[in-house]
Amino acid sequence: MTVVFYAIGCSATKEPEIQKNYQLYLESQDPTAQTKLRDLIARFNTVAGFIALNYTDSDEGDVSRVHLATILDDGAAAGQGGGREKFQYEEQANRGDYLPVRMKTMELWFTFEAFFEYPVEENWLVFCHEIGHGLEMMHSANPKSIMYSGNYETKTAEWDIFFDRVRAYFSDDFQDWATYEQSHPGV
Ligand SMILES: [Zn+2]
Repeated sequence: MTVVFYAIGCSATKEPEIQKNYQLYLESQDPTAQTKLRDLIARFNTVAGFIALNYTDSDEGDVSRVHLATILDDGAAAGQGGGREKFQYEEQANRGDYLPVRMKTMELWFTFEAFFEYPVEENWLVFCHEIGHGLEMMHSANPKSIMYSGNYETKTAEWDIFFDRVRAYFSDDFQDWATYEQSHPGV
């Protein structure tokens, strides 16, 4: 399943099309790190049930960048990881016309410790948490939420709710998280 979403509408309005086609590019040539990122992406897509994330070796175009660092302290990324959504704009040919395209990308940070040294399930949880930010999710006050900011208990984490949200984010009728949470309280 190719996950490229087009806003359906009258082209005369010139409403920007939104594409959620995340190409994750690792800012490191370390083959071990590249393999690790590929494995995390594959696991994420398997659990999600569709291709939500892609791995790319090329940093050209609207890629989502993944950074590894010893310490994260620049505000956007603190603690063991960081993630944020990022929008890029470009004009792109479409159906013989030029319509504005809004490319959604994300930017992710991980400490070397969180990326390489955490136990598998904790590394997985940090990865999913930061991807969640990349998909515009905010922190949750629920300690079982993947989007909780604090000490995690991976065994009781509410994975089903998280991946329901991931699938909702990529669905055609997704508007924003505030709208989603009106019909899905308590996440
Ligand atoms: Zn967070």
